[in-house]
Amino acid sequence: MAKKNCSFCGRSEKDVRLLITGLNGHICDECAKAAHQIVENNSKKTNDFHLDKLPKPKEIKEFLDQYVIGQDDAKRFLSVSVYNHYKRLQQSVDDDGVEIEKSNIIMVGSTGTGKTLLARTIAKLLKVPFTIVDATVFTEAGYVGEDVESILSRLLQVADYNVKAAQRGIVFIDEIDKIARKSDNPSITRDVSGEGVQQGLLKLLEGSMVNVPPKGGRKHPDQDYIHVDTRNILFICGGAFDGIEKKIAQRLNTHVVGYNSVQNVRQLDKANLMKYILPQDLKSFGLIPEIIGRLPVLTYLNPLDRAALRNILTEPKNSLVKQQIKLFEMDGVKLEFPDETLEYMVDKAVEYKLGARGLRSIMEAVMMELQYEAPSSRKKTVTVSKEYAAQQLEKTFLSEAFDGKN
Ligand code: ADP
Repeated sequence: MAKKNCSFCGRSEKDVRLLITGLNGHICDECAKAAHQIVENNSKKTNDFHLDKLPKPKEIKEFLDQYVIGQDDAKRFLSVSVYNHYKRLQQSVDDDGVEIEKSNIIMVGSTGTGKTLLARTIAKLLKVPFTIVDATVFTEAGYVGEDVESILSRLLQVADYNVKAAQRGIVFIDEIDKIARKSDNPSITRDVSGEGVQQGLLKLLEGSMVNVPPKGGRKHPDQDYIHVDTRNILFICGGAFDGIEKKIAQRLNTHVVGYNSVQNVRQLDKANLMKYILPQDLKSFGLIPEIIGRLPVLTYLNPLDRAALRNILTEPKNSLVKQQIKLFEMDGVKLEFPDETLEYMVDKAVEYKLGARGLRSIMEAVMMELQYEAPSSRKKTVTVSKEYAAQQLEKTFLSEAFDGKN
C-alpha cells in the first residue's frame, strides 16, 4: 500500500499522531489544528457589526425576556442604549459634525434582582467579549492604578487576545455603590473607598488608551504592552445602593410640598421608590458628578416578589427546574416537580430573604441526594415531593445557616 503523507506539511503517517484521510489527500493533526485556528481568526475578523445584522431594540428585549423575568423598564433602557452603542461604532466620520456619544449604563437595584444576568445575556446575544469586575477591587488596591489594566487584561483573555474584539466588548462593573464617598461617616479616616477610587474609574469609563501587560502579569519594563482603547467598550455598572430610597424620598418630599402636593403624593408608588431615581440621587449617595456624567443611562430594577421568584424557577430558557430536568434526562431519568414543591421552595426563598440567589441554593440542597442516587438507580421516574424537599432542606444545615444570616 502507498505511503500516506499529510498533503499540507508532507510528514508521513508514522511521524504524526493522527492522519485524517479525505477524498484526494490527507491532513495530520497538527495541520488540522492550524487550519482550525486560521478559520477561527478569520471568522473573528469578518464578525464586524453591520447595522442590518444588529438586533433592533425590540429584538434585544425579546431575547432578554427569554432569560430574565420582569424588569421591563431596565430591559427597555438596556436594549436601546446597547443598540445605540453598537450603532455608534458604525458611525462614519463625515463632516456633518454629529458624533454619537458613548452611553455607559448604570443599573440600580437590590442584590439578586438580575443586574448581572441582564448584562451577561446581552453579551451572549451580541457575541461580544464580556467580563465582570467588582468595583471593590479598586478599594483594596487603594490608589495604585493597576486594576484598570487588570480589568482589561481579563477582557482580552475572554477575547482570546483579539484586541479588536476586546475593544468592542462589554464590562460589567458590579457594586459600584461600594466606592461611593463616605465622608459623612466619621469613622473613616482615609477615604480609600471614595473619591480617589472614583477618579481611577473615571479614566476607564471616559475612554482612553491603556497599556495592558500581556497575559495579565505584573508590569515589567521590557515587556511589550498591548494597547487597548476603551473608547468603544461598553461599561454597564450595577449596584444595590442600599438606603438610596431615603434620598429619593427626601427629594420627592421637597418637590411635592406646595401646590398640587396632595395629588402628587397619592400617585407615588411608595413601596418601590427606586423607580423615581434620578442622577442627583446618585450624587446624594456619594458618587462624584464626573462619574455620574459618564454613566448617562440610569435605570432601576424592581425587587423580586413572590410571583417573580415562582416564574424564575420555571420560565427562563435555562431555568433552575429545566436545568435539573436536563441533568436527570442525561441519565435516562424523568424528573418531576409537583406544583406544591415549587411553591414550597419559593416560600423558603422568601423566608430566607435571599431572593433569586436563594432559589439556587435551595434547589441544590434539595437535589443533592437525588443527584447522587439517581444515576445508579433503576427508577425511570423521580418525583420530588414537597415532603421530600422539606426533609432534604432541613438536613443540609442550609436553613440554620440562612437563619443565622438574617
Ligand atoms: P444581581 O447582579 O442583581 O445581584 P444576578 O443577576 O447575579 O443579581 O442574579 C443572581 C441569580 O438570580 C441569577 O444568576 C439568576 O439565576 C437569578 N435571577 C435574578 N434575577 C432574575 C430575574 N429577574 N429573572 C431570572 N433570573 C433571575
